[in-house]
Amino acid sequence: PPPGAAGPPPRVKLVLLGDSGVGKSCLVLRYVRGQFDEASKITVGAAFMSHQVMTPEGKSLKFEIWDTAGQERYLSLAPLYYRGAHAACVVYSIDSRESFEKARYWVDQLQRNAPGSIVIALVANKSDLADRREVPEEEGRSFAEAHRMLFCEASAKTAAGVADIFEGVAMRLTGAGL
Ligand code: GDP
Ligand code: MG
Repeated sequence: PPPGAAGPPPRVKLVLLGDSGVGKSCLVLRYVRGQFDEASKITVGAAFMSHQVMTPEGKSLKFEIWDTAGQERYLSLAPLYYRGAHAACVVYSIDSRESFEKARYWVDQLQRNAPGSIVIALVANKSDLADRREVPEEEGRSFAEAHRMLFCEASAKTAAGVADIFEGVAMRLTGAGL
């Protein structure tokens, strides 16, 4: 189609990875529906949502979001979800050092097995739980910088930083010519 022709928007396959309970499903729900679920149900296998957005430069994109389960018994399924992905959000929770260590595992997996062009965002969720913080913001940020990942502290509960994650991913992808 000629430049500027209104075709279907480019599709962005985005996968969420991270330990169970860090808030992956809540982040997606917050972003796509503007809601928060205090009693979020455990994700079985994976869940899918799509969401069309406009980038700041006025390009439209359709996110196809794969929200995975973080439990050990599903680890072997993860490559099915990140295969062919344009982007990944690796999520940990600021109140859990263990979840940050798991995030390191996921980044390593992605760097070994995902497409070389994948855009990775490291997301430090539950930023509202500042009084229970176990992972300093600076530690997350420097880990992200060392691996050329986007970094964002966010809270699915308060909505702080949530849109920034997806907008940052969209901008990096459109900047790369998607
Ligand atoms: P997942 O296993 O990574 O998908 O985690 P969920 O999205 O199911 O969330 C797990 C629990 O953490 C639920 O009880 C949520 O209500 C809670 N939760 C998720 N995001 C936040 C957040 O930003 N702040 C707080 N305080 N709790 C959150
Ligand atoms: Mg979930």
